[in-house]
Amino acid sequence: MGLLSGKTAIVTGASKGIGRQIAIRFAQEGANVAFTYLSSVEKGQALEQELSALGIKAKGYRSDASDYKSAEDLANQVVADFGGIDVLVNNAGITKDGLLLRMSEEQWDSVINVNLKSVFNLTKASIKTLMKNKNGASIINITSVVGERGNAGQSNYAASKAGIIGFSKSVALELGSRNVRSNAIAPGFIETEMTGELDPNVVKGWTDGIPMKRAGSADEVANVAVFLASDLSSYVTGQVLSVNGGMYT
Ligand code: NAP
Repeated sequence: MGLLSGKTAIVTGASKGIGRQIAIRFAQEGANVAFTYLSSVEKGQALEQELSALGIKAKGYRSDASDYKSAEDLANQVVADFGGIDVLVNNAGITKDGLLLRMSEEQWDSVINVNLKSVFNLTKASIKTLMKNKNGASIINITSVVGERGNAGQSNYAASKAGIIGFSKSVALELGSRNVRSNAIAPGFIETEMTGELDPNVVKGWTDGIPMKRAGSADEVANVAVFLASDLSSYVTGQVLSVNGGMYT
């Protein structure tokens, strides 16, 4: 028996990075896993096979998290395919960095839509299903240390991630009495393709400032997601769990 046996989870943006590792850790703990991807089609298809080989039910869906109608269709399809949803992980995210002086409206809108509107879209589309669960349900939204303390060159990203924190806490207040928990995970500097695009000098600047003097791994974030998805966290809601090597926020 794994920590998540008998549960069905949806993880958005699982073709790479943190989302992929969350899907794998959930499957290792016995969850059935529905996950999404958008542009990385081959990686998404490969993950479906990798998860299925762990002996659970797994299915990948190509779905744009920023699109409201697509989120509704996804939630309906997952319920039809899996019979319900116990855990929702809103992980899909992008960066389009630039100083505000040079930031375009497109850079702002796309980051807000993919990172923040997506969280509204799928939470709203899943909420009635989550509330029906006799044993409760867990919503986990992936925010960022940048949403807590800001970052020069990332005003769009920081705003989207700060919005996720306010959303997660509000949903916790609205749904606590229905035993639906809502929490956020705030990773610090985690080695993935997203951070792989950063200038090595920027990376050194970040790691020098981290008390643990290293970047984190996607697996270290995924383990916290396992905790929040499982009954180990049955009295934890409305919280932001930092996974950042001790960075001051
Ligand atoms: P990543 O390696 O770039 O992966 C991003 C994932 O999001 C991919 O699977 C991508 O799928 C998916 N995605 C992007 N746009 C999408 C859309 N419109 N619809 C559906 N899926 C979409 O990024 P990561 O580093 O793992 O980041 C994952 C989450 O953690 C993000 O929310 C990010 O903001 C957050 N985070 C990361 C760090 C870090 O240091 N890495 C720190 C704090 C927070 P496709 O490739 O298939 O499009």
